[in-house]
Amino acid sequence: MIKKIAWEAFKNTGDINTFLELKQIEGIEETIDKSTNIEEIRKNTKNNKCKFGGYMSITKISGVVLSENNMGDYDKMLTILTPNFGKISCSAKGARRPSSSLLAGTQIFCFGEYLMYKGTNTYHINSCETIEMFYKLRTDLERLKYAIHIDKIIIDVTEENENCYNILQLYLNTLYTISESEKNLDLVLSIFKMRLLCLLGFTPRVLACTNCNTKENLNYFSIKDNGFKCEACGKQDKSSIKMTQSTQNAIKYVVTAPPKKLYSFELKEESLEEFKLISKIYFNQKLEKEYNLD
Ligand SMILES: [Zn+2]
Repeated sequence: MIKKIAWEAFKNTGDINTFLELKQIEGIEETIDKSTNIEEIRKNTKNNKCKFGGYMSITKISGVVLSENNMGDYDKMLTILTPNFGKISCSAKGARRPSSSLLAGTQIFCFGEYLMYKGTNTYHINSCETIEMFYKLRTDLERLKYAIHIDKIIIDVTEENENCYNILQLYLNTLYTISESEKNLDLVLSIFKMRLLCLLGFTPRVLACTNCNTKENLNYFSIKDNGFKCEACGKQDKSSIKMTQSTQNAIKYVVTAPPKKLYSFELKEESLEEFKLISKIYFNQKLEKEYNLD
């Protein structure tokens, strides 16, 4: 029940903290209800008995499955993005057996809660509870194409053992928008790229010309100087791209909007083309890699 409320809260606020706080309340309730819960799980699990005869500690971790690879006949190796441990590798034993309780929760894009313990090289999943599957991503090829592209980018920009809260929040919001809204997918992708760059330390300067500091006529976006330029300075900068007032407003919005409101605007065709171009070039330049959708 709280799981559902927590997910609804996240969808409305875009704030994973709300989600995690609510989950914590549930955790406390669970502990009160069955104080032996974790011990029970340990007793019932053969796999986590370590070779010295003791038991590894089991941790409850929430996250999104970024990739799944088959191992052996029935097992899977997953990469999961978590808020506190960053991108981690997890083995899911037996997850491909039709009767496995891990079957749903170990699929790409699944957001869930995982009970796992840490082995020498990877985590091992004991059980999981799915929170959101993003079903529409799995049944609509066009949505799936964009989600996979974004997923690849997230895999590239995250590491193990770092706080990935903001990136996870952006990723969940983006998957949700792609899956559940009718927004133009190119607009969603461009917003995602620009916002991700901000999280990675490449926030463009949007309030004054990056060269002369004027606040008037900021009609150019300079790729090399990370931000807006005025008419005069923009013309001198070969890396700069001319943009309309709507494109300027869109970029300003994406840089400053609260997470929950990030995707709540539309762009007309001409500005959308400019915004797409600027996001794409700026993104590829800063990450030093060619990201193409197809
Ligand atoms: Zn200037």
